[in-house]
Amino acid sequence: MTLTSSLSGSLISGQAEVQVAPRILPTRQDGRIDLLGLSRDQIRQALKEAGLEEKQAKLRTKQLWHWMYNRGAVEFEVMTDIAKTMRPWLAERFVISRPEVVTAQISVDGTRKWLLKTDDGHDYEMVFIPDADRGTLCVSSQIGCTLNCRFCNTGTMKLVRNLSVGEIVGQIMLARDSLGEWPSKPEGRLLTNVVMMGMGEPLYNFDNVRDALKLVMDGDGIALSRRRITLSTAGVVPLMARAGEEMGVNLAVSLHAVTKTVRDEIVPINKKYGIEELLAACAAYPGVNNARRITFEYVMLKDKNDSEEDAHELVRLLRYYRLPAKVNLIPFNAWPESPYECSPAERIARFSDIIFEAGISAPVRRTRGQDIMAACGQLKSAAERQPRSYVQDPSNS
Ligand code: SAH
Repeated sequence: MTLTSSLSGSLISGQAEVQVAPRILPTRQDGRIDLLGLSRDQIRQALKEAGLEEKQAKLRTKQLWHWMYNRGAVEFEVMTDIAKTMRPWLAERFVISRPEVVTAQISVDGTRKWLLKTDDGHDYEMVFIPDADRGTLCVSSQIGCTLNCRFCNTGTMKLVRNLSVGEIVGQIMLARDSLGEWPSKPEGRLLTNVVMMGMGEPLYNFDNVRDALKLVMDGDGIALSRRRITLSTAGVVPLMARAGEEMGVNLAVSLHAVTKTVRDEIVPINKKYGIEELLAACAAYPGVNNARRITFEYVMLKDKNDSEEDAHELVRLLRYYRLPAKVNLIPFNAWPESPYECSPAERIARFSDIIFEAGISAPVRRTRGQDIMAACGQLKSAAERQPRSYVQDPSNS
């Protein structure tokens, strides 16, 4: 095969060096090729390899693309502008997949969480957060994570693997299926924003995340503006500039601490790329200005990072690096056996006031979907969420 794909050849370790290895198109167990997640070129190439001539392949690619990303089609039979005889021919060779849904839960506050399963049997999660004026889908980039942030439940899992382009874009497709948002239209959408803030570190799955977001932004398909997409990183400094250049989406940075000692402890990637280096990379992020500010996420951990001095130091740092910034204060969401407590409400309010008084926006984020374990940092695979004795000892069930 000469085709390149999204599944292999991508960065899986916690290393920043991006390996560009030849990538082979994923063929499913039934021998068919999944078209979801492929670029136009890859689709055309796949059609040619299946026997179509260049001109035909080009035309069919255009049609398939429109059906998939504008109409949300998952079957070839509905593609009325494709010759009737050609539809079964396509169905024999190709599929248009969606992630398998294991469970779908809805919170008392309207937040929805889906537990999804990959073809090779791994769980991952996505969350939809409806608000009065917008709807945000929180998308996962990896199964598990390499970062081990101490307050994050996903961080207690090992990295299993990167999600493929199809598995990433598949989350948005599935959410739109369930919200009834096909065909794509510019106005009146429920799903208006995408945040790469689910399980995993998106910059450690750079190529697949970029290619998936390109599909989401493509003007002939879902056509979500890059201004409505936010990528959140714990601070993979060497890849931040590239993210700005190649994706152009909004940047959120999980800062969470203003001293080396504390950040080393709670966000261990800090030992590799320290606070100064990180903030300098933020200042250099392509396209940053006062109209497009960087979001700094700051989880409020009692007696760990929530003092008045911390708030003043945060202001000093943001000023020193001249960062067009907004700060999102996230009340810590506890999970079973989590080693920290959430700061008291008054302390969070004081922290927020200090930053506001310096002229920087610092809203306290409302926790959503806590009753269904859908809140920030609570995402984890279902298997891993069981108590150990339950997982390891079948006689215990
Ligand atoms: N790896 C990326 C994206 C995933 S985490 C990153 O680190 O930014 C998305 C956000 O949720 C991050 O800001 C993360 O620090 C935060 N988070 C993780 N666990 C949390 C918890 N238990 N309570 C509140 N926020 C949490």
